[in-house]
Amino acid sequence: MIKSVKGTSDILAPEVLLWQYVEKTMAAVAKEYGYEEIRTPTIETEELFTTSVGEGTDIVEKEMYTFPDKKGRHLVLRPEGTAAACRAYIEHQMNLQPSPSKFYYAGSFFRYEQPQSGRKREFHSFGVEAIGESSPLQDAEVIDMVMTMLTHLGLSHLSVDINSIGDDSCRPAYKAALRSALETHVDELCSDCKRRMVENPLRVLDCKREDPLLLDSLPKSTDYLCPDCEDHYHSLLATLNTLGIPYRQNHRLVRGLDYYTRTVFEVVSEDLGAQNALLGGGRYDYLIRHLGGPATPAVGWGLGLERLISVLAARTPELIGSLTIPRAYVVHSSAATTAAFELRRTLAGKGWAVDVDVREDGFGKQLARASRRGARLALILGEDELSSATCTIKDLASGSQSSVLLTDVGAFLSTALLQEK
Ligand SMILES: [Zn+2]
Ligand SMILES: [Zn+2]
Repeated sequence: MIKSVKGTSDILAPEVLLWQYVEKTMAAVAKEYGYEEIRTPTIETEELFTTSVGEGTDIVEKEMYTFPDKKGRHLVLRPEGTAAACRAYIEHQMNLQPSPSKFYYAGSFFRYEQPQSGRKREFHSFGVEAIGESSPLQDAEVIDMVMTMLTHLGLSHLSVDINSIGDDSCRPAYKAALRSALETHVDELCSDCKRRMVENPLRVLDCKREDPLLLDSLPKSTDYLCPDCEDHYHSLLATLNTLGIPYRQNHRLVRGLDYYTRTVFEVVSEDLGAQNALLGGGRYDYLIRHLGGPATPAVGWGLGLERLISVLAARTPELIGSLTIPRAYVVHSSAATTAAFELRRTLAGKGWAVDVDVREDGFGKQLARASRRGARLALILGEDELSSATCTIKDLASGSQSSVLLTDVGAFLSTALLQEK
């Protein structure tokens, strides 16, 4: 038997209903916030991610699916979404269009990780990017948007963990302070952090292997912000206050990727326990210039759909049932095949899944198949019905039957749907 590749999954009914519902709900809110969908390719050049995500990150060093194509080009299966959106922004000269460019995307991403850590090698993300504005109101907008999305999806007790990691004018001094503080604790650090301490000491702050008390004692980036970064951060926090978005300043929040500047944030739901962020994001004001485009500030976030969907399924088990549409099954004689197909055409848009029997054997066998498929109603078209332009509608649970004019079957199904709700 040929099996799916390790770390990948088939998404089957009925779970796929949750995927459709989540993607549709999030996309609808994104559009209502003025964002447009962007679909970028699944394969990109390796250079895009070594340049953006950064050499020396776990993603680039260990986790990328990298392969040569037949001409020897170095390609990758995209490991994240932001770099590709920025590449597209540059490639299509969107800086010449009215600012900001606001995108949302949903799709598959790939990282070669150990599946036992609960992560898939092919995983799915929904993300947004707002490119072109440095205003803290833009940061507030992307945060406000995801709070609206998660609220629409029925999640509660949401709050934002937030930090500012500064920019090129203030981060060097912070890094130096952090490095010298870490030097006095070098024996306590894990082997990775001994290396990170030199290359990128911020990374030590989100290392899960370090003593939290040690990490809490280290210098805070917000104590080193330059006046511009300070203004930006406080203005963002003030806006979150006025919008009633709960937040907690978390000076250990740095996010794993090289390209963040100033704002970094995660959204957590207290219902899920303290360690469990639903999504993360931040500002990346240098990324587009770094990729060869014009200097362009930007902010965004990305959310793992696997996790969000498993949270929703666990919290609201009745959700799948409410997303399932009822089924009707057309039982018919071979003389009524055309009428059966035509009847189904007229039922499009009524909110029912309609099967037309394709074996055309006895009505008893067709009705049995209707029941096995979970149909609630059988729409029966035999000789008598054909001659009178009617349909016999049988409720497969109660056994009750009614004769309905063919032209009225749609209205009958609409009414039946309303009565169920
Ligand atoms: Zn460490
Ligand atoms: Zn600064």
